[in-house]
Amino acid sequence: MKKHNFSAGPCILPPEVFMEASQAVLDFNDSGLSILEISHRSKDFIAVMNEACSLAIELLGLKGKGYKALFLQGGASTQFLMAAHNLLQTRAGYVNTGSWSSKAVKEAQLFGEVLEIASSKDANFNYIPKGYDVPAGLDYLHYTSNNTIFGTQVKDFPTTDIPLVADMSSDIFSRQIDFSKFSLIYAGAQKNMGPAGTTLVVIKEDILGKVTRQIPSMLDYKTHIDKDSMFNTPPVFAVYVSMLTLRWLKKLGGVAAAEELNEKKAKLIYSEIDLNPLFKGFAATEDRSAMNATFTLTDEALKDTFDTMCKEAGLNGVNGHRSVGGYRASMYNAMPLASVGALVEVMSELESKA
Ligand SMILES: *Cc1c(COP(=O)(O)O)cnc(C)c1O
Repeated sequence: MKKHNFSAGPCILPPEVFMEASQAVLDFNDSGLSILEISHRSKDFIAVMNEACSLAIELLGLKGKGYKALFLQGGASTQFLMAAHNLLQTRAGYVNTGSWSSKAVKEAQLFGEVLEIASSKDANFNYIPKGYDVPAGLDYLHYTSNNTIFGTQVKDFPTTDIPLVADMSSDIFSRQIDFSKFSLIYAGAQKNMGPAGTTLVVIKEDILGKVTRQIPSMLDYKTHIDKDSMFNTPPVFAVYVSMLTLRWLKKLGGVAAAEELNEKKAKLIYSEIDLNPLFKGFAATEDRSAMNATFTLTDEALKDTFDTMCKEAGLNGVNGHRSVGGYRASMYNAMPLASVGALVEVMSELESKA
């Protein structure tokens, strides 16, 4: 039986994508070859890479605005250091909203002064700081748009002359934002775009060339821009499956359609969390993420019963991250409303049993 997959990442992808990808493993484009064995320099794969990049730019509404999309390796974790390596000359600002932001801060400190201009660490990152001042003269200001572990999401980004950088790993393509506010966006594919193994980088080319340090070729955005993500062998299959997912998203109606569905899913789960006395939300209400809903049981004694019920209902991956405990329902773009409905049903069944 196919499960309802609430895994935080690697995550659910559309069934159509699994079908097409599995066909391409056997025979890609009727070429008599598998996608896994073709040259990354072949005409067929270059077309895949180009389509993946242009779909990413188009779906983010960045066409004709001076941005370049790259598919790199090393995960979002490599972007923590690569962003700083390429952009941090003197001083950068970071809004610290969780474990991933904290890791980004740590890497950036290797390259210059890092001002943590706001943080929600005082409350185990259960909210998004607001009303802080942004000092002038920063090389860039870094955000984590969605905090996968804590289930919070930044709803408003400042309008500022300072270049904005964002780790959007777990909510890229999930909601309409003015993406042109950002000079650099990065996202590990495995949360909302594809399988593990590639990282999308969307960069405004005019922010480069401002640091004086030497940058090793593989870590230099310029290298990958000049070589169209083909400086070295790209992760062919991961890029292909990401491209298929972006095609699926475009057919669905793009980011606007995804957002509409994501809002419905979020409303469904959060109203159950709020109405059911056996559950309590972790994140501050106004900062709740539409991608990752975090919640705990009000009576820990019900844990075994609830876990068993989840298992029997085919709900996978609802256990919370160790730093929050409780439960986390990740509801990325490919998750149907019915899967959230299945979880809500189990939650209300627990209430009627207790
Ligand atoms: C998962 C995640 C990361 C880490 O991604 P890797 O690709 O594993 O390095 C970074 N940031 C956010 C917001 C994440 O959700």
